[in-house]
Formats: sequence, C-alpha cells, structure tokens
Amino acid sequence: MSGILDGKNILVAGVTLDTSIGFAVAKFAQEQGATVLVSNFGQALRITRRIVKRLPEMPEVIELDVTDAEHLAALPDAVRAALGADATLDGVVHSIAYGNPETLLGGKFLEGPWEDVAQAVQVSAYSLKSLAVACRPLMGNGGSVVGLTFDASVAWPVYDWMGVAKAGLESCARYLARDLGGDGIRVNLVSAGPLRTLAAKAIPGFGDLEAMWTTKAPLGWDNTDQEPTAKAVCALLSDLFPATTGEIVHVDGGFHAMGA
Ligand code: NAP
Repeated sequence: MSGILDGKNILVAGVTLDTSIGFAVAKFAQEQGATVLVSNFGQALRITRRIVKRLPEMPEVIELDVTDAEHLAALPDAVRAALGADATLDGVVHSIAYGNPETLLGGKFLEGPWEDVAQAVQVSAYSLKSLAVACRPLMGNGGSVVGLTFDASVAWPVYDWMGVAKAGLESCARYLARDLGGDGIRVNLVSAGPLRTLAAKAIPGFGDLEAMWTTKAPLGWDNTDQEPTAKAVCALLSDLFPATTGEIVHVDGGFHAMGA
C-alpha cells in the first residue's frame, strides 16, 4: 500500500516521551512510508533513544539543542551520517518549546523576568528559523517545514509568556515562508488544542485550558489523542499541499471558530 510520505526523509525535532506530539508524528510518518530521523537534546536524549524503540521502525536519533550554534552547524553532516552521504531532507518538523513554568506561566505575566522570556522566545520561536536554516542545504523544491503552535491570536488563562513566544513563532513561520518560498520550501504550522504531554503537564493551571475545550469544541476534543495533530503535520509534509505556505491549520476540534 502506498503512503502519502513514501520515499521521503523527515527529521522530527522534539521527541522525549511517547506522549510527545513529535512521537505521534514520527509514528504516522513511518506508517505513511517516510524514513524518519528523530532529534532531542541534553539528558532527555537518553530517554528518547529508549522511547523510539516503540515506533514501528527504530529511527536514528541525533543530538540537537536548537540553541546551540555548533549543533546547528553540524546538523547536515549528522543527517548524512545517519541517512547516507547523499541524503536529502524532504521535511522538517519543529516540535519544540520551553518556558520556565515557575516564572513565565500560570498567571505570573506581569512579573515574568526578561532572561526567562528571552530563553522562551529563543527556544520556542527563533529556533524555527535556526532549524530551517540549518536544514536548508539538505532541502530543495517541494521541501516542507512544519511547526506546532497554540493559537496565539488571543490571550489565554495561564499560558502567559508562552503565548507571546507562540505569537513570535507564528510570525517567524510567515517570514520564513516568504524567504524560503524561492527555494520551493513551504513553511506551515499546526495549531493544536490542549494535549497531555510533558510540556503541557508542566504548565500550572493547564486543566483550566483543557476544561474550556470540553464545553466549546464542536467536534469534541480528546486531550490524550495526539494522532489528529500528527496526521495534519504529515499532510503538510506531504505533496498534498503543494501551494500552501505561511498557513496555520487548526487541529482543535473547531474550538477556534466558536465565539462562545
Ligand atoms: P514535549 O513532549 O515536552 O515536547 C517538547 C520537546 O521540546 C521536548 O522533546 C523537549 O525536550 C524539546 N526541547 C526543549 N528545549 C529544546 C532545545 N533547546 N533544543 C531541542 N529540543 C528542545 O511536549 P509537546 O506538547 O509534544 O510539544 C511539542 C510542540 O507542540 C511544542 O511546540 C508545543 O508548544 C506544541 N503544542 C503543544 C500543545 C499541547 O497541549 N501539548 C498544544 C499546542 C502546541 P526535553 O523534554 O528534553 O525538554
């Protein structure tokens, strides 16, 4: 049976546990015929190497801290070492975010210190540019970069400075779409509803957000099911959206479209 990602090489950056959205993306991408490469950083790399054994096929895992200039510079060689000397990338998934939950989230917006805000913006927004530029030498016409956002067009309870970082990510995706369009590379985001991942559980008061989805999403919302989000990411990685870039696709049960 043929899949929508047959023959494509996809890097999924940001897989720690099997609850990670990146894990669900890697799984569905493999099921759709892709050769997947996974990355993570620091101490969690050890966990990632264990967790990826649960995927249909065991992918190569590479180390990538998206704030580390040396890691970024070494990325093309790391991809070639993993996939072969002539390897190219057809798709890159940015499934990465970090903001200090103690100081930036959970209702402390007016106190958020700049050093922590700067880190959140670098890891969660600027890094989309860093990752795309690092992968650019391996990508060509038809390439696709996909990131994950949480709708930054409005202010939310508890999301605070991460909401500001996501607004930066959404804008960053549009500027990247502008500057990489000439290479035939598309840049899009999937805006997911609340999902119970490691990052989400670290947000104080995350349950307040989840509760809103229970009553307002017209299709309903399962906050333990990463697959709908993964499917949308894989659709954007595929050739099914050849003329779509700078777009944000909502996978939120329809929540964003409802007034009340
Ligand atoms: P997750 O499993 O915790 O994934 C986040 C990943 O980012 C982790 O693998 C984390 O590694 C990695 N990361 C953090 N700093 C990094 C750095 N400097 N370099 C490289 N990787 C780094 O949580 P997730 O919910 O799946 O998050 C994936 C994406 O989806 C994020 O952009 C998130 O904002 C977005 N999103 C999530 C939800 C939700 O409700 N969960 C909704 C909408 C959008 P460590 O584990 O080592 O920190």
